Amino acid sequence: MMIMCREATKLMSLSLDRPLNRRERLKLRLHTMMCGPCRRCQAQFELLHRAGETPPKTDDTGGDA
Ligand SMILES: [Zn+2]
Repeated sequence: MMIMCREATKLMSLSLDRPLNRRERLKLRLHTMMCGPCRRCQAQFELLHRAGETPPKTDDTGGDA
């Protein structure tokens, strides 16, 4: 059973909140095996997951008036 890229990315973001079921992981894995872009996307999500609590906020307060 194939899932769509949209569902795959949904599972990826979901995995940040909670561990995926065995079934969900299997679906995601099957998809990323066949889908290059989603594979790269998953790598990004894993990086975010490892980073923990680091919001991608780049508040540049460079005082160069
Ligand atoms: Zn995909």
